[in-house]
Amino acid sequence: MRNSTVQNRTRNFLLFGHEIAAPVLDPALYLVATPIGNLSDITIRALETLAAADVVAAEDTRVSRVLLSKYGIRQKLVACHEHNEASVSRRLVETVLNGGSVALISDAGTPLVSDPGYRVVQDTIGQGLPVVAIPGPSAVLAALAVSGLPTDGFLFAGFLPAKAKARRDRLAETATAAMTMVFYESPRRLAATLADMADVLGEERMAVVARELTKRFEEVRRGNLRELSFHYKTEGAPKGEVVICVGPAASAAELSEEETDALLAKLAESMPASKAASEASTISGRPKRELYARLLALKENRQ
Ligand code: SAM
Repeated sequence: MRNSTVQNRTRNFLLFGHEIAAPVLDPALYLVATPIGNLSDITIRALETLAAADVVAAEDTRVSRVLLSKYGIRQKLVACHEHNEASVSRRLVETVLNGGSVALISDAGTPLVSDPGYRVVQDTIGQGLPVVAIPGPSAVLAALAVSGLPTDGFLFAGFLPAKAKARRDRLAETATAAMTMVFYESPRRLAATLADMADVLGEERMAVVARELTKRFEEVRRGNLRELSFHYKTEGAPKGEVVICVGPAASAAELSEEETDALLAKLAESMPASKAASEASTISGRPKRELYARLLALKENRQ
């Protein structure tokens, strides 16, 4: 690979009008993070790697061509997306086996994060070859950081299922997580997902919708799930890309099981079960559905 004609092409890139020579890369698979909107959000090391790699594999070559052109990088791009990853992976691994370097990028952000690349990484590791991270932007971290929600621990749940039943089931699995949760979502499904979240996770849960981060119409909307759900139901689907962050089930952790039962029993003395579950959900942060089932079980045990 080192003596092939590929080695004779220029490895330069442009920064503020200056031509910069990229150092030669060691043989490896390089996972290169690229901007999530603002093309200036790219590291020097990412540019060096993209300019110097023997092969650049891109999710959509048309999208990546725009980025590479901005920095004067003349590379032939190989398409690597969810429909051809298995077969392209073999070729990429062979390149590294033969002493070459492969840079893998996705359309935006960090490859493999809800994006192609997992198979290539697995195959590369399987051959005992090095995999190197060239870190940079990712929507999950950008959204979490600006959300104002706790950041000491978080659960990244990627995209929820598109079908309502599966989506609600998945949400129910995360309902008691005592940490901030981050979801990717399409703007078309945003209102329906927020409505399901309000129902399953509790209406009072604090949440944030981060839209078009790093772009011209960047917007960060904060509120509880009831308010956010109402807003997007009323306003309709927003334009652009969105991340949803949901605050931890903090109060749920603060109320013991016995305290939760006592609260439910007390409320149920003066109101119907469904209203009692709803009130308890507001107070405790636990999902209404869970509390309703718990109250019915309590009543049954007492009979
Ligand atoms: N690999 C990317 C990353 O590291 O963030 C994620 C790719 S995933 C296919 C695309 C999703 O990421 C979008 O649907 C949206 O949820 C989120 N996303 C990407 N760019 C964004 C941006 N600029 N603002 C808000 N969300 C964004």
